[in-house]
Amino acid sequence: RQDGFGPALFDPVRADEERRRHHLAAEMPAALTRGEFTLYYQPLLRLADRAVIGVEALARWSRPGDGLVMPLHFIPVAERTGLIRPLGRHLLELACRRGAAEPGLLISVNLSPVQLRDPGLVASVADILHRTGLPAARLQLEITETAETLHHRPALAGLAALGIRLALDDFGTGYSSLAVLATLPFTEAKLAGEFLRDTRRRDVLGHIIDTCHALGMTVTAEGIETPEQERLLRELGCDHGQGYHLGRPRAGLPHSVPLAASDRT
Ligand code: C2E
Ligand code: CA
Ligand code: CA
Repeated sequence: RQDGFGPALFDPVRADEERRRHHLAAEMPAALTRGEFTLYYQPLLRLADRAVIGVEALARWSRPGDGLVMPLHFIPVAERTGLIRPLGRHLLELACRRGAAEPGLLISVNLSPVQLRDPGLVASVADILHRTGLPAARLQLEITETAETLHHRPALAGLAALGIRLALDDFGTGYSSLAVLATLPFTEAKLAGEFLRDTRRRDVLGHIIDTCHALGMTVTAEGIETPEQERLLRELGCDHGQGYHLGRPRAGLPHSVPLAASDRT
C-alpha cells in the first residue's frame, strides 16, 4: 500500500521479492543434484542433567557465490514448487545416514506439512530407515502446527506405526488445542521460543508442561537464550531444551555440552 488506504498498483519491494523467489526456484533442482543442500545440527539437551540426547537437523543451502542460505529463504519456495518432496527425502537420508553412525543419539528432522500430502511418504521414510540402518526409535519427525497438519491423520498414524517419534513443532503459536493434540499420535510437544519471551504466557508454562505430560508427551522448550530461562524450565519440569544458550546449530554432530558454572545448582 502506498497511501495507506487502497492496494498499490505496483509495489517495487514486492516485485523484487517475487523476482528473487523465481530465481531461486529455477535454480533449486540443479542445486539439489549438485548436492548443495546440507544440514546443520543443533543439540537437544535433557534439562535435568544437560546430557545431549539428540540433535535437530536444520537445512542449509551452500550456494556458490552466496554463502549459506537459510531455510526461511528456500523452504517456502520449495513448498510452492513441489521440490520439497525430493529435497525432503534427500535431507532425511543425510540425517539418518549421519545419525546411524552415532549410537544413542536422537535424530530430529523437520517435515513440511506439504510432505504429509504425499501418498508415498510413509513408504519413503521406511525405505530411508532401511537403507541407512538408523533404528526407527532414534528418528523423530518435527511437524509444524498448521491447520493443514490436523487434516493428515492417516499419514501421521502411518508414520507413528513405523515406530518413529513425532513432535508437534512450534506448539503454542498455531491452531491445535490441547484437546485436539490428545487425539493425534504426537510423542512430543516443542514449545515455541515466544513462550519464553512473553511474560504473560510464562505464567501458564508450568500448566502446559504438566498437561502435555498427562497426555503422555515429553516437552522440549525451544529458543532458550539465557541461563534464567534454562533454570525456570528445569524447575517447571520441562524435559528437554534447545537454544543458543545450550548450543548453536553446527555442521557437525555435538559430543557433549559442558555444564556452565553459573548453571550448577
Ligand atoms: P524450527 O523448526 O522452529 O527450527 C528452529 C529455528 O530456530 C532454527 O532456525 C534455529 O537455528 C533457530 N534457533 C535455535 N536456537 C535459537 C535461539 O536460542 N534463539 C532463536 N531466536 N532462534 C534459535 P533455522 O535453522 O533458520 O530454521 C528456520 C525454520 O526453517 C525451522 O524452524 C523450520 O521450520 C524450517 N526448516 C529448517 N530446516 C528444515 C528442513 O530440513 N525441512 C523443513 N521442511 N523445514 C526446515
Ligand atoms: Ca523444528
Ligand atoms: Ca520450532
